[in-house]
Amino acid sequence: MNQSPLPYPPRLKLALTPTPLEPLGRVSRKLGPEILLKRDDLTGAEVSGNKIRKLEFLLAEALDQGARTVITCGGAQSNHARATTAACARLGLGCRLILRVPDPGDPPPPSANILLDRLLGAEIVWISPAEYDDRAGIMAREAEALAREGKKAYLIPEGGSTPLGAWGYIRAVEELAGDLAELPGGTSQPLTIVAATGSGGTLAGLSLGVKLLGLPARVVGINVAADRDYYLAEVGRICSGAARTYDLGVEIVPGRDFEILDGYVGLGYAVSKTEELALIRDLARVEGVILDPVYTGKAFFGLRAELKKNPEAFGQRIVFFHTGGLTGLFPKAGQLREIL
Ligand SMILES: *Cc1c(COP(=O)(O)O)cnc(C)c1O
Repeated sequence: MNQSPLPYPPRLKLALTPTPLEPLGRVSRKLGPEILLKRDDLTGAEVSGNKIRKLEFLLAEALDQGARTVITCGGAQSNHARATTAACARLGLGCRLILRVPDPGDPPPPSANILLDRLLGAEIVWISPAEYDDRAGIMAREAEALAREGKKAYLIPEGGSTPLGAWGYIRAVEELAGDLAELPGGTSQPLTIVAATGSGGTLAGLSLGVKLLGLPARVVGINVAADRDYYLAEVGRICSGAARTYDLGVEIVPGRDFEILDGYVGLGYAVSKTEELALIRDLARVEGVILDPVYTGKAFFGLRAELKKNPEAFGQRIVFFHTGGLTGLFPKAGQLREIL
């Protein structure tokens, strides 16, 4: 990876990488194709999950700009907010989180990621869903307030899904190519890469990485919010921004270079159906791997449903990115209890 041909921007080493690529043997035999898990849930403890790969690049820029505090935003139980807080604490930076809750006057108790945010020293500003629509404006005003105290702030949009953040998953594809080289068939065997899609930066980086490295891979995002049209546009925008900013010499065509598999949002963002939780339970018991209810559980639910309809839908080899989110199970304890 040191002699990489890709023009990486400066990066901090914050994630435990390379992460393992592990076969899901029993599930593969049941569903048909070979399914491998890229264990990005193992990128660390406090910083676990996919966001830290993006933050390695984003926080390098923050330090380079002389920032003292990082401001970011997300849902109340945001994994991105928790990973950002942990990384900031490691780097000696302040962290201010702008978090969306139904009623800012009655914020949720410190549980799961909120508990970790608090432990790690985040300042939390609670805002309503309506205010969240203007999150960019709110973050800008928070930055101005910090500037008046003499503290330079660095702003990270939702999920760290910017052209710079996408480098985290370009780099993950390069890492994956190294993993595949060790397997029968190597990097020349066609594969399908599947990932849960929330703010879009992971899928953007995966699409760019596959294109830049010329891997024979389909890239499929399974959206956990909004719809296909939204993500074709949003992920396309991040990709074209990165191609332009870093002069990558590639063009990502939405729908061709990456696909969005819609239909598995279920009851809504971060709301679980019993069938989705039952799949998380079954996979835990059969493979000893725990998915999360908000992202990977829904995406794997979608993957399994498609493979049941057509075992050949994604070819003979599938790499499913386990993007983390274990803490998301704790707020679901009540609902889970009924199926344990
Ligand atoms: C944020 C997140 C995703 C989605 O990644 P995006 O880059 O936002 O699309 C998937 N899984 C988990 C566990 C996440 O926290």
